[in-house]
Amino acid sequence: MRVLQVSSEMVPWVKTGGLADVAGALPAALARCGVELRALLPGYPVILQALRSTERIGRARLPWGDEVDVLGAEAHGSSARLYLIDAAWLYARAGSPYEDAQGHAFADNHRRFAALGWVARELACGLDPTWQPQVVHAHDWHAGLAPAYLAWSTAPHVRRPSVFTIHNLAYQGLFRAVHQAELGIPAHAWHLEGLEFHGQISYMKAGIVHADRLSTVSAGYAREIQTPEQGFGLDGLLRHHGHKLSGIRNGIDSGIWNPAHDDHLPSRYNPGQLTARATNHEALGLELGLAAHHEAPRCAIISRLHPHKGLGLVLEAAAPMLHQGAQLAILGRGEASIEQAFLELEQRHPDQVRVRLGFDEALAHRLLAGCDMLLMPSQFEPCGLTQMYAMRYGCLPLVHSVGGLADTVHPWDPHNPAATGCSGFAFATFHIGAFLEAWAQALACWAQPVQWAALQRTGMSLAFDWDEPARQYTRIYQQLGHAHG
Ligand code: ADP
Repeated sequence: MRVLQVSSEMVPWVKTGGLADVAGALPAALARCGVELRALLPGYPVILQALRSTERIGRARLPWGDEVDVLGAEAHGSSARLYLIDAAWLYARAGSPYEDAQGHAFADNHRRFAALGWVARELACGLDPTWQPQVVHAHDWHAGLAPAYLAWSTAPHVRRPSVFTIHNLAYQGLFRAVHQAELGIPAHAWHLEGLEFHGQISYMKAGIVHADRLSTVSAGYAREIQTPEQGFGLDGLLRHHGHKLSGIRNGIDSGIWNPAHDDHLPSRYNPGQLTARATNHEALGLELGLAAHHEAPRCAIISRLHPHKGLGLVLEAAAPMLHQGAQLAILGRGEASIEQAFLELEQRHPDQVRVRLGFDEALAHRLLAGCDMLLMPSQFEPCGLTQMYAMRYGCLPLVHSVGGLADTVHPWDPHNPAATGCSGFAFATFHIGAFLEAWAQALACWAQPVQWAALQRTGMSLAFDWDEPARQYTRIYQQLGHAHG
């Protein structure tokens, strides 16, 4: 089975969130199921520079007339062969893949990501004479036009089936209607059941409507996005297309996230050697200038600092938590107001709060090994990876029971403290009172070290690997492959 993966991010090269981890892990996981996956990415300079050599596969003419070279490369650090769109005028920018250094979305994002969808279509059409995919698997709004361009194609040999995976419905890729013609959007697609969303072009909707199959990254989120509360205006459409939607939980890459083999850690450990965590705890305390005390848990936050991550609850709860002896170690970047609020908290409590603004993969590993808890009170969370990494590292998550968080964290119950299978703490209502109640439960568990260690061992032994999710994707590809001959 040959599959073309289309995404804007992929570990180890470009990452702003979980999408990159997933795109990076899928090639190897799917290879074990007999799927040959090749990945198409925008030619961001960080990727082009990291590749030893590239070869020119062909040239594509974009709907608005620009021509781009499509490069092929064997990638060190990934088992996938890559295709890259060589278009410096589109992708060679300072800032993130989506915005400039000031946080403003690039004005030509509609073209930058239409090019991604279009080149996916060209590859499905035979742009590379030596390899054609049987299925195109597009991820998130950046690749949302790929299923649409495939569906609009009139040439029968181009009609390759597609899968579209929603990693986060909150980001929809909305653009002004005036771009319709330059993007090659046919008139028949410009309506409510096509890709029009309140007078704008929606790349997310393009993917949802035109893909043959849809998936999202947990069973819980698959249910939630079909409700008005979590549907971001697309719940009706998703209910309409519900028959083709599956929830497939993300896995975690045990090659990268494994405390027994993690080169980022001062001391490696496994569930049988929990005391070895103490060395990491101590080293992290020295690194961050936090005392090595144990009155209350040391809590990590590793997150994009965006309102939907629910960190307002942590800011509100911080005073009582710190008063009870907790420590907070925050690694993140994002909205200036949230960054500022955490910096002010650090200024008020320099002995207990440490803030590192930025994106630091190595520090993320050390935090999971050197903190007792991870706080992840997201308002919504499609799957969430960090809570799974945390459990793997014996760092107990405290989560809001939504989406993938509810699917992966089985909370400890103070009324049944010896129950097996628990690996963290949770609250159901998104409210400060409920958050503090879960925190109180965590403190009650903390006071019983044997219980705490049992939760750590349970979390560390949970199998969040990619085997089952990869089998589920493979089944979808096979069904599509058979249906389309
Ligand atoms: P999302 O995709 O919404 O950002 P996930 O939990 O699915 O949330 O994935 C986030 C990924 O990004 C995880 O691998 C997490 O460890 C990582 N991450 C987030 N912020 C940072 C940061 N500031 N530094 C290092 N890694 C980070």
